[in-house]
Amino acid sequence: MGAVAEYFDNIKSAVLTTLDGLRITTRHLWTQKPITVQYPEVKVEELLPERYRGFLVNEIEICTGCMVCAKDCPIDIIHIEVEKDEATKERIIYRYDIELYKCMFCGLCTEHCPTGSIHFTPRFEGATRNMGQLYHHFVDRPRPIYKNPKGAEGEPAKAEAKPAPVKTDPKPEAAKADAKPAPAKKPAPASSDEEAAS
Ligand code: SF4
Ligand code: SF4
Repeated sequence: MGAVAEYFDNIKSAVLTTLDGLRITTRHLWTQKPITVQYPEVKVEELLPERYRGFLVNEIEICTGCMVCAKDCPIDIIHIEVEKDEATKERIIYRYDIELYKCMFCGLCTEHCPTGSIHFTPRFEGATRNMGQLYHHFVDRPRPIYKNPKGAEGEPAKAEAKPAPVKTDPKPEAAKADAKPAPAKKPAPASSDEEAAS
């Protein structure tokens, strides 16, 4: 092919390629729905897929205090304290905290939970200057652990009660990455009569 013919061939190719691109752009402009949303006006959490890994929560009402999630966490950011109440012979959970600001959302803690108590939510808006706000406490008061019905091991329980609201630690010093959080103060466990009354 001569140089002149190659020159005009290149021009033709450039024009056709440009027209092809414009055709696709125009088609999307008029026929395709937008795939972006106007955040934050649009509530993105409602659009996220079911298995989205947002903030972790623990539905403490169905937590057995088995420690499996804490042992599975590769960076040890789940802190649980369970002790037996000698008076009632019940195991009481005093503390269930997650240092969410360190979480890498790997999901290992959720995989072997016998009740499905710990799970991800679609909530993701956690930007803050105070890391203490991402130190989440799930035990609002000492309470007997959930007893998984026999034979239901591995089957997620159905939580009828709504999860207790997550408490955060507003003190920035509590959130220092290197600092180990101070253990929660243990109030005297409620007697079985009080538990029944509540
Ligand atoms: S998602 Fe991973 S890093 Fe986060 S608490 Fe669970 S096991 Fe630990
Ligand atoms: S029941 Fe689930 S959330 Fe509770 S300690 Fe065991 S593994 Fe963790």
